[in-house]
Amino acid sequence: MSFPRPDQRAFVGSYWEQSVDKPRLERQLIGNALFDVAVIGAGYAGLSTALKLAQAGVSVCVLDAEHVGFGASGRNGGFCCMGGTKLSNRQLIKRFGLEETRKFLAFQVAGINLVAQRLKDWDADAGCHSKGEVYLAHRPSDLVDLKDEAAFLTQNFGIKTRLLEKGGLAEEGLSGPEFHGGLHVPYGFALNPMVYVQALAREARKAGTRIFGKSAVTRLYRDGERWRLNTAHGAVRAKQVVLAGNGYAREDTPKWLHGRTLPAMSSVQVTRPLTDDELARQGWTSDLMASDTRILLHYFRLLPDRRFLFGTRGGLFENGKALAAMQRRARADFDRMFPEWAAIPTDFEWHGNVCLSRRLTPFVGPVPGMDNVFAALGWHGSGIAMASISGEKLAGLMLKRIGRDALPKAVQEPLAKFPVPALRKLYLQGAYWWYGYQDR
Ligand SMILES: Cc1cc2nc3c(=O)[nH]c(=O)nc-3n(C[C@H](O)[C@H](O)[C@H](O)COP(=O)(O)OP(=O)(O)OC[C@H]3O[C@@H](n4cnc5c(N)ncnc54)[C@H](O)[C@@H]3O)c2cc1C
Repeated sequence: MSFPRPDQRAFVGSYWEQSVDKPRLERQLIGNALFDVAVIGAGYAGLSTALKLAQAGVSVCVLDAEHVGFGASGRNGGFCCMGGTKLSNRQLIKRFGLEETRKFLAFQVAGINLVAQRLKDWDADAGCHSKGEVYLAHRPSDLVDLKDEAAFLTQNFGIKTRLLEKGGLAEEGLSGPEFHGGLHVPYGFALNPMVYVQALAREARKAGTRIFGKSAVTRLYRDGERWRLNTAHGAVRAKQVVLAGNGYAREDTPKWLHGRTLPAMSSVQVTRPLTDDELARQGWTSDLMASDTRILLHYFRLLPDRRFLFGTRGGLFENGKALAAMQRRARADFDRMFPEWAAIPTDFEWHGNVCLSRRLTPFVGPVPGMDNVFAALGWHGSGIAMASISGEKLAGLMLKRIGRDALPKAVQEPLAKFPVPALRKLYLQGAYWWYGYQDR
C-alpha cells in the first residue's frame, strides 16, 4: 500500500473544502485484495451502503477515482431536502398511484431524518440551519400555483405548509424584486455537505470499511465466483458490487451503464461575508433555505458565517469557455435577483455533476442481467437525503434484511437507456432552451 502525494488531491475550488480541516487522504489501492462487497463511489450513496454492510460484519471496500466527497457529495448546495426525481407529485401519482407516491414522499422525509440523526449521533458539527425550506414565486402567476400546491399537499399527503403572500416576505427577511410570495414546506434543513460526507466516511471506516482513493475502477468483469474490479495499480475481487458513481460514473464500468445516465451540471457561487447593513439593505436576513419556482431553478441561502450561497442549474459542457459563461450567467441572475448585493464579490465558485435518468426517477436495486451487482443512483440534483437513505436500504436488501417492498416503487425501476445515447446532451440542450422559455 502507498499514499498519494498531498498535491495529488483533486480540489474543486469549493467553499466547503476550505471550511473543513485538511481532509484525510485515502490510501490508493496497490496490489490485489479480496472483499465480500466492493462499492464504486465514495459519496453519500456508496458510503451509506458500505457503513450498513460493515456494521453487519460484511467485509467491504469503497473505491473512488479521487477521494471521499470528490463527487457531488462534497460540493453541493447543502440543502438536505425532499426530492430525488424530476417528476411532480401529480406525475408521480399518475405513474405509481397515490399510495406509492405517499410511500415515496415518506421515504424522502425518512432520508432527511436519517441525515439529521446521523449528524446528531456522530456529533458532527455541519453548521445546520433552516427549519424546512421555502419556494419563492418568481412571477405573480406562480403564487397561484403555489396556493394550489399547498392545498394539494395537505389533501393528499397531510403536509401542512405555510403560504407567504408577497406583502409578508419582507417581514420574514426574504425580500427580492423577483419574489412574489412563497410556500414554506416544513421538511429539510441546510448543512455543510463536506462535513457530512467526511463524518460518514469516518463512521464507515470505524465500522471496518476500507476506503481507497485515486483508485478509479476501469473494468468490471466476472472472474469465477466473484467480480473483478481493475484499477490502475491493483484489483479487487468481490462477491457483490455496488455502483454508486451517480453523475461521475464511467459509462463503460460496467457496460450496462452505457447510455442510462445523463450527467448534468449545477453550479454554486458564494459571496464574501455580508455585513448587517448589507443584509438589511437587501431585506434578506432569514436563514431559511430557498429556491425559486423556475424549472431551471436557483437555490440560495444565507450561510452561518453570513456569506450568501447561490446555486443554479443548466450548464452542459465542462470546458473552460462554457464554464466561464455558466458562472457569468449565474452571477448576472444573482445581481438581478439581489440588486443591493450586485457589487459584492464572489469568493468561491464551482460546479459539479448531478445525474438524470430517462424515467426521471432514481434506481436502487439489483442490476438486471448482472448477478450480485447492485446500483443506487439517479437523484436528479437532490441526493443528500435520497442517496443517504437509498444507500442504507440497498445494504438492507443485499443483507436480505428487507425485501424490495420496503422501497417505494418510484426507486425500483431499473434505469432505461436513452434513445440514441450519443445525442443525450443535445436533448438536454433542447430541454434547457424550452425550460428557459417557459421560465420567462
Ligand atoms: C453543484 C451541486 C449542487 C447540489 N446541491 C444539492 C443540494 O443542495 N441538495 C441535495 O440534496 N443535492 C444536491 N446536489 C446533488 C447531490 O450532491 C448528489 O445527488 C449526491 O451527492 C450524490 O451522491 P452519490 O453518492 O450518489 O454520488 P457522488 O457524491 O457524485 O459520488 C460519486 C463518486 O463516484 C466516484 N466514481 C464514479 N465512477 C467511478 C469509478 N469507475 N471508479 C471509482 N470511482 C468512481 C466519483 O469519483 C465520485 O466521488 C447537488 C449537486 C451539485 C453538483
